[in-house]
Amino acid sequence: MILVLEKGMTQVKKNQLKSVLAANGCMVHEPGGSGQNILGVIGKNSVTREFLMAQEGVVDIVPISTAYKLVSRQMQKEDSIIRIGNVEVGGDRLTIIAGPCAVESRDQAMTIAKEVKKYGATLFRGGAFKPRSSPYSFQGLEEEGLKILAEVRDVTGLRIVTEITSPMHADLMFKYVDVIQIGARNMQNFELLKCAGRMGKPVVLKRGLASTIEEWLMSAEYIAAEGNPNIILCERGIRTFEPYTRNTLDLSAIPVLKQLTHLPVLIDPSHATGIREKVSPMARAAVAAGADGLMIEVHHKPEEALSDGPQSLYPKQFGRLVRDIYVIAPVVGKQLFHDYTGSASPRKRSGEKRDGKGQRAVYLGEVGTFSHKAASQYFGTDMESSPVPSFRDIFEHVKIGEADFGIIPIENSLSGSIHENYDLLLEYELHITGELSLRVVHNLIAHPGTKIEDIKRVLAPPPAFQQCRRFLDANPDMKIVPVNATGSAVKRIAESGILEDAAIGSVEAARIFSMNVLEESIEDNPRNFTRFVVIEREPLAEGVKNKSSIVFSTSNNPGALFEVMKVFSENQINLVKLESRPIHGKPWQYMFYADLEADMMDSQKESVLGDIKKNTEFFRIIGSYNCGSDK
Ligand code: PEP
Ligand code: MN
Repeated sequence: MILVLEKGMTQVKKNQLKSVLAANGCMVHEPGGSGQNILGVIGKNSVTREFLMAQEGVVDIVPISTAYKLVSRQMQKEDSIIRIGNVEVGGDRLTIIAGPCAVESRDQAMTIAKEVKKYGATLFRGGAFKPRSSPYSFQGLEEEGLKILAEVRDVTGLRIVTEITSPMHADLMFKYVDVIQIGARNMQNFELLKCAGRMGKPVVLKRGLASTIEEWLMSAEYIAAEGNPNIILCERGIRTFEPYTRNTLDLSAIPVLKQLTHLPVLIDPSHATGIREKVSPMARAAVAAGADGLMIEVHHKPEEALSDGPQSLYPKQFGRLVRDIYVIAPVVGKQLFHDYTGSASPRKRSGEKRDGKGQRAVYLGEVGTFSHKAASQYFGTDMESSPVPSFRDIFEHVKIGEADFGIIPIENSLSGSIHENYDLLLEYELHITGELSLRVVHNLIAHPGTKIEDIKRVLAPPPAFQQCRRFLDANPDMKIVPVNATGSAVKRIAESGILEDAAIGSVEAARIFSMNVLEESIEDNPRNFTRFVVIEREPLAEGVKNKSSIVFSTSNNPGALFEVMKVFSENQINLVKLESRPIHGKPWQYMFYADLEADMMDSQKESVLGDIKKNTEFFRIIGSYNCGSDK
């Protein structure tokens, strides 16, 4: 059941209550990150409703109606995010686990690991103990396989996922692996589930061959009931009468699970289809349906694989799939894990500290802005990030070392460039080190209980008004009031209590400030994306860099800009954006900002740079980074 606690109850009082409950044999769960004052309690029959209501700070009791408790959405409204090293599974992230069905040799595992890492996997899979249908099939390299996996982790930095088939192997697994997998055949092996629960390592729990979603969640409950909340569900196809595919992939499990549980959901299209050509279409569909990640079998020589060769993708096919996913993800509000964009590397994140504190990112406005969402998608939720009042403040904070990263919107697909940031990029000598594209869905947000006809004023930043032009034209009685960010608009209407005021903003902002979405998706066109860039004091030193942003000015002569363009053309450098901005204090003279598909900081580009400089009066590389779409 859920205990509703009195508003503003201190953590000290909560802890006292938790001790009383524990002393009476209750299992207590405090949902993390929700900011709600509730406790989840699973009690023995002897713990009565009267006893609970009599405890200090308890104002109400809401029963959990499902058979599973700890993993239920009723217990925790927020999505669980499972951390494996610096990889996050769940929330706004898409995580890709890839590797062979089984570890066959050191060479095989290492070759595949390097390939899948190059193409964007952030966790490596491979079986060392294989549960095979036939006792005569390859059973895995056992401990030798685990040692190889550990070596793969040491060499590539990829954390390891492998299957446990018996509680007998718990010590071995504990020693070598990061995430343990419970396979479909063992989903209801309750001793194994309890063992995985006690081990405490993150668990990928596959759905049984013929299990209902409720049975699957009950199995997850077994793990959680042992005190291990780090559970990731993985749908891998169920047995049906259809023989064309190995199993039938139940994609409808994704929205069903999203309603029933807070646990992240992965899709394994490899075991689901059993056929190489069917893997990528189902993987793309899974992402579109809201999966939190994928588990994909990849082999460099699938025709020689000791198990599941016919369903294993070639590394290049896997690379193409990841590129597709990279494009689909923002449409459903997700982002591939940031290591794919190569920018916020683990080295950086655990790198130098500010006055003993962790690294920090700053963004515009208020919690709940799209900039905030971009920051948490890019850096992950364990990076401290905080809002500042203006774009200039972002640059200033990064410049003086108050923050390590700034994240700024640079252009929107409907309303165009954010010119102020172009000017600030020129003024401050900071460096672009990464980029991210975010789908922006605008909503009309107001106080609960108000109707659309009650609204007299709408608060939002000017670009949001431009993106919602049609809605505003259709509602001419609503007066527009510009503010600096969507999150600030929502906060202002929440704090003022004025029922006639509405704000334009994200569903997250509405939730954070306990406001109501009056009208969903009011942007003129659903293809509304904002491109953000990350700025730092130092240029990006390592990782894949396939895009550069430069700024230059030319002489005021005929063909001057053409001469610069000619250098790009002759060197086969693709220009993806060109923007001109007036030079302050020099009327009718312009700075050109260009984005190029090339690493202009690469030493091989020196002669190209020389040619550009010959044709420009001013030239600076603002940054070389990875845009994620070219590997
Ligand atoms: C596997 O992932 O290698 C595997 C055996 O999967 P499943 O348990 O889904 O069959
Ligand atoms: Mn397999």
